[in-house]
Amino acid sequence: MIRYECDRCGVPLGANDPRRFIVKLEVYAAAGHMDLVLDPHADPQREMDEIMRSLSVADPDEVEDQTYRCLRFNVCDTCRRNLLANPLRT
Ligand SMILES: [Zn+2]
Repeated sequence: MIRYECDRCGVPLGANDPRRFIVKLEVYAAAGHMDLVLDPHADPQREMDEIMRSLSVADPDEVEDQTYRCLRFNVCDTCRRNLLANPLRT
């Protein structure tokens, strides 16, 4: 039998426990697109090489955090109520 616990307060919860709720948190960049300004003197290959070089040394988790992150939590009924009353309070 799979056992869960509330990710906020630690109370034990069963797999089909009516007090167990799932909280999904999605965080992603608000910018939908970038405006490209064409510079007739720019070297597109050089700019692409620079982007690829910076990504090759970047922390993959940090790059992902800057673009999209989805988290999932199990919470009890009490924590569900507290989260819904004030979702951004830590
Ligand atoms: Zn809880």
